[in-house]
Amino acid sequence: MEKRDQLYEGKAKVLFSTDDENKLIQYFKDDATAFNGVKKGQITDKGVLNNLISARLMGLLEVVGIPVHFIERLSEREQLVRRVEIVPVEVVVRNRAAGSMSKRLGIKEGTILPRPVVEFYLKSDELDDPLITLDHIEVFNWASHDEVDQMIEMSHRVNDVLLGYYANIGIHLIDYKLEFGRLSNDPDTLVLADEISPDSCRLWDMKTGKKLDKDRFRRDLGNVEEAYQEVVDRMGLS
Ligand code: UDP
Repeated sequence: MEKRDQLYEGKAKVLFSTDDENKLIQYFKDDATAFNGVKKGQITDKGVLNNLISARLMGLLEVVGIPVHFIERLSEREQLVRRVEIVPVEVVVRNRAAGSMSKRLGIKEGTILPRPVVEFYLKSDELDDPLITLDHIEVFNWASHDEVDQMIEMSHRVNDVLLGYYANIGIHLIDYKLEFGRLSNDPDTLVLADEISPDSCRLWDMKTGKKLDKDRFRRDLGNVEEAYQEVVDRMGLS
């Protein structure tokens, strides 16, 4: 696979074209941002660790029949992915209250939710990723009714798989963000895209409650790299 032009640089990843117009290379950087880019920093080797973790999780989801844009891990920081048009909506799945849900609704962090909650946010740095309703998504054509149904259904299936996987390695999956895309060569097909890593998940150690995710960076808790490495170690990827 030949790596060609840089197409896009985001906060944590860079996308390159390849000699196949329907495949891209996704490169994982060490750059870390929080609060929509207001707080910036670097986490040593984060890109390497997130590439490993996301490849493992996406691979796992693909095996159980959830369509993903991930194809294969190519190198320490690169993976080959299907080219997609990203749906401009972030899907957050929550198993326990934390972060913005706790703040907005006054629910204590860690409160177990009686069932998983799926929320939608508009992908917009300018507007600070506002929480949106299902009607907003359809009325403003960010996704069709059918795509919304698929995103909800796929999010619940992803949650079943990830909850079980993390429980097996002694980690509570508190919440996380998913992104979906339409395949560039088949726009009617929606697949899971982007990454699933400690950058986009809240992961708490089952025994100690220790945070093993980006909250260590957001909240200046220290030992960020060590926490990501701990997740890699528990996944048996080191
Ligand atoms: N999240 C993310 N990107 C975002 C917003 C949220 O990856 O732009 C993840 C975040 O890491 C957490 C979950 O989605 O695991 C829920 O985040 P929340 O709404 O609580 O916002 P935050 O507290 O991160 O501002």
